[in-house]
Amino acid sequence: MSEVDVDLFVIGGGSGGVRAARMAAQRGARVMLAEQGGTAGLGGTCVNVGCIPKKLYSYAAHYAEAFEESHGFGWEGQAPSFNWGTLKANRAKEISRLNGIYANLLTGVGVEVVNARAQVTGPQQVEVDGRTIRAAHILVATGGTPFVPDIPGKEHVLVSDAIFDLDPFPKRLVVVGGGYIASEFASIFNGLGAQVTQLYRGEQILRGFDDDVRHFVAAEMRKTGVDLRLGADVVSISRGAQGLDIAIKDNTDASSTLQADAVLYATGRVPNVRGLGLEEAGVKLGWDGVVEVDENYRTSVPSIYAVGDVTDRIQLTPVALAEAMVVVDQLFGPSKGKPARSMSYEFIPTAVFTHPNIGTVGYSEQDAPKHCGAVTVYRSEFRALKHTLSGSSERTLMKLVVEDATDRVVGLHMVGPDAGEIVQGFAVAMKAGATKAIFDSTIGIHPTAAEEFVTMREPVKQVASA
Ligand code: FAD
Ligand code: NDP
Repeated sequence: MSEVDVDLFVIGGGSGGVRAARMAAQRGARVMLAEQGGTAGLGGTCVNVGCIPKKLYSYAAHYAEAFEESHGFGWEGQAPSFNWGTLKANRAKEISRLNGIYANLLTGVGVEVVNARAQVTGPQQVEVDGRTIRAAHILVATGGTPFVPDIPGKEHVLVSDAIFDLDPFPKRLVVVGGGYIASEFASIFNGLGAQVTQLYRGEQILRGFDDDVRHFVAAEMRKTGVDLRLGADVVSISRGAQGLDIAIKDNTDASSTLQADAVLYATGRVPNVRGLGLEEAGVKLGWDGVVEVDENYRTSVPSIYAVGDVTDRIQLTPVALAEAMVVVDQLFGPSKGKPARSMSYEFIPTAVFTHPNIGTVGYSEQDAPKHCGAVTVYRSEFRALKHTLSGSSERTLMKLVVEDATDRVVGLHMVGPDAGEIVQGFAVAMKAGATKAIFDSTIGIHPTAAEEFVTMREPVKQVASA
C-alpha cells in the first residue's frame, strides 16, 4: 500500500488550481482537487464572477455606442431596447457550459474532483467532505475575495461577485474605487444605460498605470457619461425614501449626498485563507493573509505550495496559469523535450476593459527611469478613422517608452478600441527585446490604429534617470 493517497492535492478549482491539477495528472500524477463552490464554481473567479462574465457584459455595453455610431454609416431607425434579464440568462447559460467543460477536462485526465471545502490539517494532510487525504504535496490555489472597508452602512453595498445577477437593473449606480474592477464596471453599467457615478479617493484612477494613460482614460470615460469624482470618500450609506443615500466628503472636506439604487464597492481583494488551517500547519502568512512563497511557489512548509491570487503577486488569470505550470514542472517534470519553466514578472501585458480599453506592457514613463535609466518617450493621439463618419468624439492614445542606453522598447501603452488585442502581439516583441529601430523597420498594416506603434518617428520628451 502506498504511503500517500495522492501525489498532489489541489485546494481550489480556479485558474491556477485547475491548470495545475490537469497538467500534473497528464504527467501521470495521482491528483485530487477540491472546489467549495458558492460564488465561484469550477473555473474559479475568472470563469464565474470575473474575466469571462465581465467581458461578456462589456461586449453588451459596447452595442449602445455601436447602434448610435451606425447612423453615420447609413443605418437608420431607433436603437433596440436593452433587456438585462436576457443578458443575465444568456451569461448564466454560457458559464454553466464552461463549468461543465472544466469538469470534463479534469475528470478526463483522471483528476478526482470533490465538490466541497477543503482544509489543511497537516503538512501532508487535507480534510475534505468527511475524508482525510494524505498527500505528498498540497497546492493552495484558493484565490481571493472582495475587501470592503468598514463604513457605516456597509451592509447596503454590493461587491463584484453580486453585480452579475443584480435585480433589478440599477438605474443609478455608485461605484467606489479607482482600480480595475471599479473602472471596468463604471464603463460597463454606463454603456448598459445606468447613470453611473464613480468615486475615487485619490487624485486619479488606476494608480500604477502610466499617468498619461490614467488622465486620458478618465477624460474619455467622462465623455461617455461616467460621472467620475476624484478625491471623494464615502462617509456613510443609509437607506432613504429615494433609494440609498451616500454621504460623501471630498478632499476639501466639503460634504455632499448622492442617491443611488445600488452601490458597488471595488476596493481590492484579500486572499482566501480563513479557516484553511495554513498557519496551524506551519505555513507563514504575510500581511492580510497573503501566503508567502519562494520563487518555486513553495511555502515555509516544503510539501505545501501556493499559486495565484492567494499569493497576491499579480492578480491576473494568465499569471496564475503560468505559476501553476512552474509548480507542475518542479514536482512532476517538464513536458517532453522542454526545460522546466520559471516565471518572470517583467513585461506582463494587461488590459483594463474600460470604454475605451487600456492595453499596456512594460514600464510607465514614471517608472521606467527607476529601472532603465534615461528614456525617450514617443506619443500619438488621434481620432480613429471609424469616427470620421461615426460622429463619436472618442480619441485614441498610443505611447512608447524607449531605454536610451539600449534603444529597447520598455513600455508600450494604448487607450483605444481593442487595446488588449493589439498590445498582446507587441508584448511578444518586447519580451524578445525589440528595439525602437526594429519597431521603425516594421511595416505597418494599413489602415489600422495599430500601425501607429511602428510609425512614431518624433520623440515628445526625454526623461533623465531617476
Ligand atoms: P480563483 O480563480 O479565485 O480560484 C480560487 C478557487 O478556490 C475558487 O473557485 C474558490 O471557490 C476555491 N476555494 C477557496 N477556498 C477553498 C477551500 N477551502 N476549499 C475548496 N475550494 C476553495 N484577470 C484577468 O487576467 N483578466 C480579466 O479580465 C480579469 N477580470 C476580473 C474581473 C473581476 C470582477 C475579478 C474579481 C477578477 C478578474 N481577474 C481578471 C482576476 C482573475 O479572476 C484572478 O486573478 C484569477 O481568477 C486568480 O486565479 P486563482 O486560481 O488564484 O483563484
Ligand atoms: P485594485 O487593487 O485594482 O483597486 C482597488 C481600488 O480600491 C484602488 O483604487 C484603491 O485605491 C481603492 N481602495 C482600496 N482601499 C480603499 C478604501 N479603504 N477606501 C476607498 N478606496 C479604497 O483592486 P480591484 O478590486 O479593482 O481588482 C482586484 C484585482 O483583480 C486587480 O488588481 C487586478 O489584478 C484583477 N483584475 C484584473 C482585471 C483585468 O485584467 N482586466 C479586471 C478586474 C480585476 P488606491 O489606489 O488609492 O489604493
